[in-house]
Amino acid sequence: MSPRPDLGPKPRLGYALSRIDRVTERRADATALTALERGADARAYPIGGELVVLRKTTGGLDPLFTLGEARALGGAAEVVFLGLMDGAPRFAVAIAATAIEALKARDDFAVIDLRSIAVRGLVDADHLPPLAEGKALLHWHARHRFCANCGAATQLVQGGWRRDCASCKTQHFPRTDPVAIMLPVKGERCVLGRSHRFQPGMWSCLAGFIEPGEAIEDAVRRETREEAGIVCGRVNYFASQPWPFPTSLMIGCHAEALSEEIIVDRAELDDARWFDREEVALMLLRQHPGGLTATVPMAIAYHIIRAWVENGVEFR
Ligand SMILES: [Zn+2]
Repeated sequence: MSPRPDLGPKPRLGYALSRIDRVTERRADATALTALERGADARAYPIGGELVVLRKTTGGLDPLFTLGEARALGGAAEVVFLGLMDGAPRFAVAIAATAIEALKARDDFAVIDLRSIAVRGLVDADHLPPLAEGKALLHWHARHRFCANCGAATQLVQGGWRRDCASCKTQHFPRTDPVAIMLPVKGERCVLGRSHRFQPGMWSCLAGFIEPGEAIEDAVRRETREEAGIVCGRVNYFASQPWPFPTSLMIGCHAEALSEEIIVDRAELDDARWFDREEVALMLLRQHPGGLTATVPMAIAYHIIRAWVENGVEFR
């Protein structure tokens, strides 16, 4: 049982806990992929950049279409194979920007960005991981049509999990960009920051891209020092979350703050400051007297913060 029952049941982390079986061994078999596409239970998620096409039904919004329906929505450049959900093949189909604009005008569809779909809980939570997988993969394809080695056009192969250059024979693989996201804590206090793009009153963890040649722990210490001027010691890994905006993997950590003076990098952050544990609990509950909140429950930052409020952190 939670030591803080007042916080209520733990919300589900968005885009994580995928029920998709990626069956990676089938990607190299073109005949098997064609058979999966033609399967009676094959379905596709139509995605155009940041936007997902949803069908309005009496029961709510449905993100799944047959492959024929998804292709007919217009301008499909790429079809990628996501894997099997309960044995049924799942694909993502890229919808062209011009087609997306036409679909926005239709009464039978809703065209909504994936972040809002997750924050507002507009589809069954089991759809969020394959939507994240499809969106990130299609984003990569849209920006890798030409070989980074020789400049020739590349071809989608292996169900979308590789692009090959026929000219220089280089194989290109979809990328994931690791981001360290952390909560610096010292006893009963933690440091939260505000990005310039946050809603008024919203605070969250600090975060930054991990650079080549850098360990997660070193990135946590560097970003915390750069953004807030706080020196950190030990770092505990907490959990991770796929974050398809566009192709990130958020790596959540708690960091042991060794210093106290905050120096905010105003180019990176609107603000950063110390909060005590009870104040943060009120922010998680959305009962803060000043109206402050601690991010959205589907984001890993909420879970990193809540774990500290509930249990504290024992650094190892
Ligand atoms: Zn090439």
